[in-house]
Amino acid sequence: MHDLSPWKSDFAVFSQADNSELCYLDSAATCLTPHVVAQAMYRYQSFSHANSHKGLYRLSAGATELVEQARGQVAGFIGTGSDELVFTHGTTEAINLVANSFVRPRLTADSNIVISCAEHHANFLPWQRLCQQTGAELRVVSLTPQGLLDVEVLAALLDDNTSFIAISHISNVLGCVNPVERVCRLAREKSVPVLVDGAQAVGHGPLDVKALGCDFYAFSGHKLYGPVGCGVLFARAEHIEVMEPDTLGGGIVEQVSLAGTTFISGPMKFEPGSHNVAAICGLATAIGYIQDIGWPALVAYMNELSTYLHQELAALPFIEPLVPTVSGAWLSSFQCRGVHSHDVAGMLDGDDIAVRAGHHCAQPLHQYLGHKSSVRISLGLYNGRRDIDRLVASLKNTYQLLA
Ligand code: PLP
Repeated sequence: MHDLSPWKSDFAVFSQADNSELCYLDSAATCLTPHVVAQAMYRYQSFSHANSHKGLYRLSAGATELVEQARGQVAGFIGTGSDELVFTHGTTEAINLVANSFVRPRLTADSNIVISCAEHHANFLPWQRLCQQTGAELRVVSLTPQGLLDVEVLAALLDDNTSFIAISHISNVLGCVNPVERVCRLAREKSVPVLVDGAQAVGHGPLDVKALGCDFYAFSGHKLYGPVGCGVLFARAEHIEVMEPDTLGGGIVEQVSLAGTTFISGPMKFEPGSHNVAAICGLATAIGYIQDIGWPALVAYMNELSTYLHQELAALPFIEPLVPTVSGAWLSSFQCRGVHSHDVAGMLDGDDIAVRAGHHCAQPLHQYLGHKSSVRISLGLYNGRRDIDRLVASLKNTYQLLA
């Protein structure tokens, strides 16, 4: 493995004098975007911008075509078809959509919803609130000592009143890949629909939502080297058919009159208002960028780099990971003994190393593990061994000065 990533020069941010020494280790929060993605967005916004799906003129038809081409491309990327692919603004909106349009009408005070204690707040709060509002019970699955969702515990929590399961594919704090396929199999035996929060998984390797067996899969473009402002909800066609839109507005109706409204069918009934065409173009281009690199090369590189990260951190006796290192995790969350996580991040920033410190929108998980906060290092395909060597040197210095 080289000291520098072979793809680093694809990311214009590093070519700026100010950022030439930037060591970006916060890709789980948002990935940097390659130049081709920014270019595609610039080209659309500068030369092709119009409102999609509405105008009868050439420019608008072009915007419609871009959105629909992207829908097909994104759908193919995750193993489904355009008829099951809803564009949202991100994972958060996608999960709220399912909570309000699919789960809420099915809940009674006798129902329960099953989640895990490792969920990001985006996959925790909508379920907590639904339960509070309806009197349903929120059942929370604990983790194995390795930090994985405990399938045995989940199986024991399912009963005839379980209305829904919502779990993350990969934890944004622990980085481990949850046994989602097993959960979906269990759920199917009991006819319980499953939503998978794939925000951290979508950039982690090939994805086939049909093979996974889930009912819903949510992710954000910006965790996939695309822009903020475009996310995706995969929803099985039979669910799309029966779900009513929750957010209402233009572009989603068959007809409206004072007497009432009928909605269009298909995924676009969940896309009210104007599409964020620039962001959708950006996401489609990001997917093309990943496909050009190829998953085998990308995954092999990231696995090797992660192994190096975990090995180097393990050699620092004052670094205490939240859970024992799980193989395949492209991130590491830890305590630096005797130093507050914010102070660690501040010191690293002084060396132009960007990391995340705090609870990472996963307070219940930190409470479960007995911590208030942690430092999180997360890798992207622009990182190389040199970034990790700089991190290690800066952590040693931080510990020496502050502990
Ligand atoms: N779920 C997980 C696991 C995440 O890591 C994140 C973002 O960090 C989200 C949901 C929310 O994503 P977004 O802010 O793009 O809606």
